[in-house]
Amino acid sequence: MDYVELHAHSSYSLLDGASHPEELVARAAALGMPALALTDHDAVYGAPAFQRAAREHGVKPLFGAELTLAGGHHLTLLVEERSGWHNLCYLVSRAQHAAAKGEAFLSPAELVGCTGGLIALSGCRQGAIATALRQGRRRQALAIARRALRLFGRQNFWIELQNHLLPGDARLQRELASLAAYLGVGCVATNNVHYAEPSARRLQDVMVCIRHLTSLDACHALRLNAEYYLKPAGEMQALFSEHPEALANTLRLAERCQFELAFGVQELPQYPTGGMSSSAYLRRLCELALEERFAPTDEQARAQLLHELAVIERAGLANYFLVVWDIMRCAREKGILGQGRGSAANSLVAYLLHITPVNPLARGLVFERFLSDERSAVPDIDLDFQANRREEVIQYVYDRYGRDHAAMACTFATFQARSAARDVARALGLSTAVAEAAIAYLTTGETPAFLSEADQAPLALLLELCAQLEGHPRHLGIHSGAMVVTAAPITSRVPTEPATMPGRSVVQWDKDGLEQVGLVKIDLLSLRVLSAISDTLALVEETTGETIDLPGLTYDDPAVYRMIARGDTVGVFQVESRAQTQMIPRLQPRCFEDLVVAISLIRPGPIQANAVHPYLRRRAGEEPVAYLHPLLQPALESTLGVLLFQEQVLLIARDVAGFTPGQGELLRRALGARQAGAEVERLRGVFLSGAAQRDVPLEVAEQIFEQLKAFGSYSFPRSHATAFAVLVYQAAWLKRHHFLPYWTSLLNNQPMGFWSPSVLVGEARRRGVTTLPVDVSRSRERCSMEGDSIRLGLNYVRGMGEGHAQRIVAGREQAPYTSLEGFCRRTRLPRRLVEHLIAAGAMDGWGVARRQLLWQLAALRYEAEEPELDLSYVEDEVSLPALSDTESLLMEQGVTGVSTGEHILAFYRAWLQARGILDSEQIRGCPGGRRVRLAGLMVVHQSPPTAKGTHFVTLEDEKGLVDVVVRPRLYRQVRHVLRQPLLLVEGIVQREGAVSVLATGIRRLEG
Ligand SMILES: [Zn+2]
Ligand SMILES: [Zn+2]
Repeated sequence: MDYVELHAHSSYSLLDGASHPEELVARAAALGMPALALTDHDAVYGAPAFQRAAREHGVKPLFGAELTLAGGHHLTLLVEERSGWHNLCYLVSRAQHAAAKGEAFLSPAELVGCTGGLIALSGCRQGAIATALRQGRRRQALAIARRALRLFGRQNFWIELQNHLLPGDARLQRELASLAAYLGVGCVATNNVHYAEPSARRLQDVMVCIRHLTSLDACHALRLNAEYYLKPAGEMQALFSEHPEALANTLRLAERCQFELAFGVQELPQYPTGGMSSSAYLRRLCELALEERFAPTDEQARAQLLHELAVIERAGLANYFLVVWDIMRCAREKGILGQGRGSAANSLVAYLLHITPVNPLARGLVFERFLSDERSAVPDIDLDFQANRREEVIQYVYDRYGRDHAAMACTFATFQARSAARDVARALGLSTAVAEAAIAYLTTGETPAFLSEADQAPLALLLELCAQLEGHPRHLGIHSGAMVVTAAPITSRVPTEPATMPGRSVVQWDKDGLEQVGLVKIDLLSLRVLSAISDTLALVEETTGETIDLPGLTYDDPAVYRMIARGDTVGVFQVESRAQTQMIPRLQPRCFEDLVVAISLIRPGPIQANAVHPYLRRRAGEEPVAYLHPLLQPALESTLGVLLFQEQVLLIARDVAGFTPGQGELLRRALGARQAGAEVERLRGVFLSGAAQRDVPLEVAEQIFEQLKAFGSYSFPRSHATAFAVLVYQAAWLKRHHFLPYWTSLLNNQPMGFWSPSVLVGEARRRGVTTLPVDVSRSRERCSMEGDSIRLGLNYVRGMGEGHAQRIVAGREQAPYTSLEGFCRRTRLPRRLVEHLIAAGAMDGWGVARRQLLWQLAALRYEAEEPELDLSYVEDEVSLPALSDTESLLMEQGVTGVSTGEHILAFYRAWLQARGILDSEQIRGCPGGRRVRLAGLMVVHQSPPTAKGTHFVTLEDEKGLVDVVVRPRLYRQVRHVLRQPLLLVEGIVQREGAVSVLATGIRRLEG
């Protein structure tokens, strides 16, 4: 083979390249190319995927980019060595920051001083030299070439020849070659590849049309033929028969480029330790914490600490731990709640540094699952912070390390076949009817009847192109919490781009890409339950002066477990969902470990692997603990023989089939990946032969593997579940012992959790806690406690902005509001918002009916925000009838999402009772098998994919919640009825721990 492609675009040349980097590499390998360059437009988005694919195919990856210079001129750059990569990243960043989002622009002057380690090719037809030659300006072409030669040096500047058989190509090639000969620089042939194989040409055309919002017929930016594919050497030889040295030079350049994308923890900024080594500093911190938090006689803890510190030191991770510790310390000092999640909870060091909340020794967690000598990768530490203050933590990191050293990870939005249908149809010039037909087909799998015979063929083409387009990157987004921090300026490691959010920049790699190349990211996630807990603590302190010591909780309060075991978990993190409240009364949690199990059981993995019911039966002593094979016992013993935790997959692979930890990790990933069919099959082979060597019968081994497959990786690691269980307990403890402040805080941190605020308000009512309506004279900006009640905050009124609420509060500090006119005069709120306040009952305090107020408002000559206004209304009294109870309730519900008075079902109760229709409390008292009728407000409607078409509906009345199961056959009959809020259900009571009703009929309840 004597040709290497040095100029290729992947689909990361957004809406220009039509092949994934993996496809380009696979094609290059099939053609026998020893190397391949990736030169996307002003970006290195595809570099991590490209490198991984290249390694797999044994093709040498060459990194580069095609820069867009002033005037739209293109310049091809290749990285020869590390300094070249640094310069490339810097140049791409400059180009990205100099132009609008999604475009790039680099002034040639910026190249000065930034060309080391880079090889420049003169570019495609749009290169500055080629453009000048095509326009007959030979002198100018020569001047540009001389400048480039001075910039890059004779070894590193090459004239790029292309031949796409277009008119003028041959002539341009000759002129470029003679210019090169005149200057004494070399020529190199490239094909400006935009897709791996010729068949993708149409997809590429469509992409370009989508980019220009036009159709194939109208688009002038299209490539004129299908010659932009990855060509075999033979075809290139024919095209460049006059310049064989230009082909040979591609090999020489490929040979010269020696750079590999590989980073690591050494890229992190150094935490300042005042001259001490990071390891010594870390040891000192941990020893101090050990003295403080463990008994001096605790030899086990001391030994574990020494062991972990030694592993951390050998892995060179001491500084990494200090950086993470520093972030947590900052949060603690600011009073921001936060804790680490994931496998970090396996580490005593992380516990001592207050990174994670659980003592791994007390919970039987194993450090090696977090970090070990054989696994060299940087361990994942994800930090959760209270949602409303996470931004402060992000800003701290920016301030601490500087804006040039910190940036957020990006995300790639990709095309979906269905959402792309309209764009593709426009590109193809097809009618909207065909586009609608495609969308219908992609939604239901059926071709709609309205399509004419003539439209059938275009539809087929449209569907094919939509399918091809699916998964290609469309545009760049910002990851909300993943940060990259580097000691060197970040733009020397990976290019950055401006983000839509001011003052932010994003790096050109997403989380997967960063992990792939080893550039350390720190995940700063947000968790609303932490905000709710933090608010509760503040409210308790404010109202009682009591300070709650959350970390001091001992996880053994029987009252808390009794509450959870009853299924009384609405408002409790992770265990409040319908599925949880059905399961938990059977599980009967009695201790912290049971909470770990509870939140791990209701995950897609254990559900799909049919682990839930066997676990519950075994725990209740209804069936013996059994194993498919004795070799499974060590892995599954602690979970009664069922697969519950992610790490059990690795243990089973080890014990049954002799997998190394590395192979086990591969298996775990493959099982979790969406499209890893081939890889899973390969590992299945390895698994079965490994099992055979251990005398596991084939059919048993196959069964075990099927279970692993069903389990997938949609499950918690034990450590992660343990860290989350801490929050479950804290939330439950607050609900049990500080209901009023906790509930107020939940209402202030919506949306969060499983239930709507309306259900939360109902739940409070059933516990005897009244929620008071919004009141312009009493409500604060957020919900507050008022005696033994909760007062809804002004924030619950639809359309209320922070500034509006502040104006209401400030206005009443001057004097109490006594009339609508006075209120409007002082606050000057938008008329619509005043309407909402009236509807919410916020002005009921004046003793004027809501209708009357609305009438007054309409008569008020009143413009919001006007500095001087003539407020007057015509006294024209009209007495309207007061609203009926249900009417005002619906009004309030409409503008606040909750109703504070009676539950709507209470108004119908007498009527329902007379007809023998039960309330939820009566249902809970019914024996299993009883036929019943009940009525309620639908508050949840779910059909989880694991339930195979069964729907779950939760009804609420004034006494509580009832779960209703709707089997697929009934669902098909009543799907339209289920859009109504008020339902009448007939069915059979089921009692399996929790009570539910298996529906036999559902009707709309007429109001
Ligand atoms: Zn170009
Ligand atoms: Zn190009």
